[in-house]
Amino acid sequence: MDYETVVGLEVHVELATKTKIFCGCGTGFGAEPNTQVCPVCSGMPGSLPVFNKEVARFAALAGLALNCEINRRNVFDRKNYFYPDLPKAYQISQLYQPICRNGFLEIGGGKKIGIHEIHMEEDAGKLLHDPWEDCSNIDYNRCGVPLIEIVSEPDFRSAGEVVDYLERLREILLYLGVSDCKMQEGSMRADINLSVRPSGAAEFGVRTEMKNMNSFKAIYRAVEFEAKRQTELIDAGGRVTQETRRWDDNKEASFSMRSKENAQDYRYFPDPDLLALDLSEEFIEEIRANMPESAASKRSRFTGELGLSAYDAGVLTAEKPLCDLFERTSALCGNPKEAANLIIVEICRLIKEDAATTEDACRRVAPESLAALIKMITGGEINRTVGKDALAAIFREQADPEEYVRERNLLIVNDAGLIDEVIDRVLEANEKSVADFRAGKEKAFGFLVGQAMKELKGTANPGAVNGALKKRLGQ
Ligand SMILES: [Zn+2]
Repeated sequence: MDYETVVGLEVHVELATKTKIFCGCGTGFGAEPNTQVCPVCSGMPGSLPVFNKEVARFAALAGLALNCEINRRNVFDRKNYFYPDLPKAYQISQLYQPICRNGFLEIGGGKKIGIHEIHMEEDAGKLLHDPWEDCSNIDYNRCGVPLIEIVSEPDFRSAGEVVDYLERLREILLYLGVSDCKMQEGSMRADINLSVRPSGAAEFGVRTEMKNMNSFKAIYRAVEFEAKRQTELIDAGGRVTQETRRWDDNKEASFSMRSKENAQDYRYFPDPDLLALDLSEEFIEEIRANMPESAASKRSRFTGELGLSAYDAGVLTAEKPLCDLFERTSALCGNPKEAANLIIVEICRLIKEDAATTEDACRRVAPESLAALIKMITGGEINRTVGKDALAAIFREQADPEEYVRERNLLIVNDAGLIDEVIDRVLEANEKSVADFRAGKEKAFGFLVGQAMKELKGTANPGAVNGALKKRLGQ
C-alpha cells in the first residue's frame, strides 16, 4: 500500500533577551554552572515572578513576521510535572491564550505551512551526566531563559519540506534578531510529530514524537527513518503506539522512550502569581513599524537597487554577520559591487584558509578598514595585488590599511614627472612599436603601456600611464 507521511513541528527558540523571563538574571551561554540564578528562577518558595516585557516584544515580532494574529490579552499557565531540572515542579507557559495564532510560512514551490500558534514559556535547567563519578549534576543557569514555541500545523509531507521550513524559519528569526538560533548550543530545537496514513485517507494515523532535535541533518534522517518504521510496522500487521521516541543519530534509528502525555496529564491552570498581560495597539504597531528587514527583502534589494548578481546576494545573506559586514562597508565606501567582491572572493577565501567561523571573522574585520581599503583600490592608490595582501593583514592582524600601505611603500606612483621620464625611455627603445601604432595598429599601444608599467615595477597607476602615453603620441 502507498502511504503518506504527515509531520507537524514544535520549534523551541531561546530568545536573545539580556535577562530571563521572570527575573533579572543574565541569559549568556556558557557561564559557570549555577552562577546565573536567583530565588525566582531556582524555584525558592515565596519568590514571585515578574514578567520581562522584552519577551512579549520578541514573541510578537516573530509572530508578525510569520503572518500571525497577535492576541491582545495574554495569560500564563502552569504546566505541572516533576523533573530534576525543573525546581518549581511546574513550567510557566501559555496553554489557553498564546500570544500568536493562525500564521503561516511559505516554503519552496509556494506551499504555505500553517503556524497554529506561538506561545511564550520558560526554559528548564540542564542535567549534566558525569560518567566518572557516576552521578548527574544540575546546572540551573538555563532555568527561566525565555523561549517561544512555534507550533506548526501538520502540513509537512516529506523530510525535505521539514528542513526547508526550518532553514527559512531560522533565517527569519536570525534577521529579526530575536534569537541567535544556534542549534549546537540548543537555542533552536525541534520536536517532530510524525504519523503515516494510506495515501488519500482523510484521517490522521497515530503519531509519535521525537523531541529536542538539534541538527537539520539529524532531523532529515529522523523523519525518513520514522516514516519507514511506521509504514513497515503497519504493513506487517502491527500498530503504531502513541509515544515519545528518542532519535540516536549515531545509530541512525529511533527508540521508544515513554508513552506520550496528553495536555490533561499536566494539570494546566492559570498561574496565580502573574497578572494577565494586555498588549496595547500602540505596542503592536510600534513593533510592526520597526520590523527589521528580512533576508529575502535584502536579497531582492541587493540584486535590484545595488545591481549585484542573485548568486552574490545569496552568498552575502547566507550568514547574517557577513551581510552586516557588507552593508556597513558598502555604506561607508559607497561602492557595493567592490565591497561584495572583496567579501565574497577574498574574505570567504581567508575564512576557509584559516578555518575560522564567519562570526569570528566578521568580528575581526572592521568595516571602516575594509571601506578604506576599497577606496584606495578604486581611487587608484594601490593595485589589486597590494589590496589582497593588505586585506589578509586586516583579517589576521587587524592592520590599518593606510598604515600598512604607507609603511611598505606600496602606493602607486602618480608622479607625472617620473612617468614621463619612463615613457621617454620606452619610446626610444621601441621605435618599431611607435611606428606600428602610428600606422594604425592599436595593439602596439598596449605593448608600450606594458613596457612602461614594467619599468615602474607595477606600482604606477595604469590610468596615468595610459594618459601620459596618449599625450606623447599626440592622441
Ligand atoms: Zn533568576
